Amino acid sequence: MAERTLFHRIRDKEIPATIVYEDDEVLAFKDIHPKAPTHLLFIAKKDSDFVPSIDDLTEQTAHVPGLLIRKAQAFAKAHGITGYQLKFHVGRDGGQEVFYLHLHFLSGQALNE
Ligand code: AMP
Repeated sequence: MAERTLFHRIRDKEIPATIVYEDDEVLAFKDIHPKAPTHLLFIAKKDSDFVPSIDDLTEQTAHVPGLLIRKAQAFAKAHGITGYQLKFHVGRDGGQEVFYLHLHFLSGQALNE
């Protein structure tokens, strides 16, 4: 089994995070070092959807980036955020620090909570 990462521990509520959205498939929480007024991280929750990085995608996990993007889009619509950036850091050389695939959601618009 792959090593449990920081984001496994956030997913499993062993480490606190400011969760802004959760359903059966996805969890979204605030980045602890925000680079924009709204900076969220979207992760897939199911063990069967776990993949460390875009670099490790297989046929079994190829749907996961789309899942995260779709949930981010729905989140933006639900919160009236009309402009945002979506980013995957890929590999250490791409700035990735946590090897649990996550989608960065950044917006200059603050989150209305
Ligand atoms: P990456 O560089 O793509 O691996 O992004 C990892 C992100 O996780 C960084 O933007 C960090 O600021 C963020 N991060 C690290 N620890 C935590 C934490 N405990 N809660 C929320 N975000 C975190």
